[in-house]
Amino acid sequence: MIKTAEDIFNFNETADACVKCGKCIPVCTIHKVNPDEVTSPRGFIDLLGAYKSGDLELDKNAKDIFESCFLCTACTEVCPKSLPTDMVIEQVRSDIAQKYGIAWYKKAFFLLLRHRWLNDLAFKLGWTFQTCGFKIQSNIDSMTSRFNLPMVKTNRVLPSLKFRSFLNSHKENIDNGGKRKVAIFIGCLANYNYKNVGEALLEILEHLEIDAFLAKDQKCCAAPAYFTGDFDTVDHNAKHNIEYFESFGDDIEAIIVPEATCSAMLKIDYEHFFHDQPEWKRRAKKVMSKVYMATEWLQNHTELEQILAKKKKLPNIVTYHDPCHARKMQGVYEEPRSLIHKNYNIVEMADPNSCCGFGGITMQTEKFHLAEAVGTSKAAMIEQTEADVVSAECSACRMQINNSMGIESKTVFKNPIELIAEALKQDNE
Ligand code: SF4
Ligand code: SF4
Repeated sequence: MIKTAEDIFNFNETADACVKCGKCIPVCTIHKVNPDEVTSPRGFIDLLGAYKSGDLELDKNAKDIFESCFLCTACTEVCPKSLPTDMVIEQVRSDIAQKYGIAWYKKAFFLLLRHRWLNDLAFKLGWTFQTCGFKIQSNIDSMTSRFNLPMVKTNRVLPSLKFRSFLNSHKENIDNGGKRKVAIFIGCLANYNYKNVGEALLEILEHLEIDAFLAKDQKCCAAPAYFTGDFDTVDHNAKHNIEYFESFGDDIEAIIVPEATCSAMLKIDYEHFFHDQPEWKRRAKKVMSKVYMATEWLQNHTELEQILAKKKKLPNIVTYHDPCHARKMQGVYEEPRSLIHKNYNIVEMADPNSCCGFGGITMQTEKFHLAEAVGTSKAAMIEQTEADVVSAECSACRMQINNSMGIESKTVFKNPIELIAEALKQDNE
């Protein structure tokens, strides 16, 4: 049954609708590493119902519990009542942010996300000084901390910064002589850190003779702010992006996004976020109907698969991890596999659909021990496949998986877009 936003955000109804069957518990990411009823979807829903009825105070303990959900949506996939635990937790995090405030470093980060020029400046400064505190691991586009810092321990693998962002490295309109044109929404991690994802996407579009519009006025989709309860930043960035996309929407066929979280945020979460602003909700729904994950659009709307089928096979073994925001939220899992499979051997890991443990900014800082615990089992699954490459269309998964695998790992991470661009460089068979 499809739920309306009004149903979703009526916490009491959600709590009453839970039949306590427990089907969500074995798949719950936090429950796997903290097996306690209160940190399970059923427990969260009970507590949320009690909070909305006034029977539970939003004290530090409740805050700690509600901040321990990874928002992975694994529970919603199996729940017979389709209860949206992740979405009600996102809502209660806004109440938490209002009551307790947002930590200074998160506020500073969200301020950068609101202003592209400030972000460009901060990342350029970061690039200048990054080697003072970090060792660059160029083979995995990452860096490791030289020191034990409060939230960044020695050897923590983080994405390294680049001299110039992806959006600042190209002109806005790229004419590939085609009759078709798409816009690219690149996402912050691929713009500032994993820049090769965008470069690879441009190579693919050039090969397909599809013009690219880089939409340089795009702002961060605001997913990090949404997951942390900073709804002012979400409102600011979402309204900007909706108006901006409307301004060029008629000139392009699609807005393609090589990032699962950004794509899900634009396409699904904006509509939920604006559940109490009907006009913005309507506009979000209309303009975001042109948003697709990059592999989804390339597979379903171009001849790419047939072109790849003619190219020589590469010897690399690839294992594919399903980002929660791709498979569970958008149903995208066959498309990247179909495209990769044309030129690489795919070996599936034991549970490609289990969350990698990224979980958002709070999980990557204050609750990093939980992210690490989840990441360890994902890294073990990847290692068992003995794959050369682990792939996922998500840079947040990349950051988390790179850290979980560590710098000694023989398996490297590549976005499927990077694998496809490499395959296109091969001769025809
Ligand atoms: S969203 Fe994920 S971590 Fe949160 S309750 Fe559901 S399954 Fe558990
Ligand atoms: S699967 Fe759904 S209905 Fe069953 S306990 Fe979990 S949240 Fe409740």
